[in-house]
Amino acid sequence: MGGDTRTFAVMAKVVGGRCNLECAYCYYVEKPKLLGQTSAVMSDEVLEAYVRRNLEINGRDATVEFAWHGGEPTLAGLGFFRKAMALDFGRKFVQLFEVTIGNMRGIRGGLCVHDALCGHAASVEVAGDVYSCERYAYPDYRLGNILETPLAELMEGNRAFGMHKTYGLPKECFECPHIRLCFGGCPKDRILLSKDGRRGRNYLCDGYRRFFSHVAANSGIS
Ligand code: SF4
Ligand code: SF4
Repeated sequence: MGGDTRTFAVMAKVVGGRCNLECAYCYYVEKPKLLGQTSAVMSDEVLEAYVRRNLEINGRDATVEFAWHGGEPTLAGLGFFRKAMALDFGRKFVQLFEVTIGNMRGIRGGLCVHDALCGHAASVEVAGDVYSCERYAYPDYRLGNILETPLAELMEGNRAFGMHKTYGLPKECFECPHIRLCFGGCPKDRILLSKDGRRGRNYLCDGYRRFFSHVAANSGIS
């Protein structure tokens, strides 16, 4: 499914897993305890390192995506985001529709979930610890700390993560007309049994099928 075209994106967990709602089903509320986080909010030092090193690895003229993620990132307060904006960066919003149109045109890399490979969307936690992916923020997936190691080096070390994103797909995905738009979604969501009885079917599959069918029928792109 093509060469390694990944470009890196790192989302910031500005308050770690803290959230004022703490829904019981959320996969992130356990993180402060699991990862031993003692800081309530990302420090100015980590914030600045996150922004500047993202710009360094993407190039100053590039459109760089900064993702503020939770927990509930607004708990960091308005002052935190004013500081972030003051660090002078542009913003880019990627929607599923844009990603799908990009994939239809053979422009890949818009969103890890719908790319052939992943491992280019890491997360940085409140104290600067970087994990392979925010959905895999577990001790085994810690790459290092943004204050100690250049971000580019940390991300280079993450290429192996996600190399098998496509290889692990069930047969029904390879037979699916939407495979080059969907790429099976995120491995973390492949929790259902596929038709051949193996675990690996994405629980969002039915919705993906409907969405991709609709876009394919209405985009005017053949
Ligand atoms: S829509 Fe479903 S079957 Fe098709 S590639 Fe995506 S997850 Fe696989
Ligand atoms: S595991 Fe899922 S969310 Fe994480 S980088 Fe891969 S596709 Fe993206």
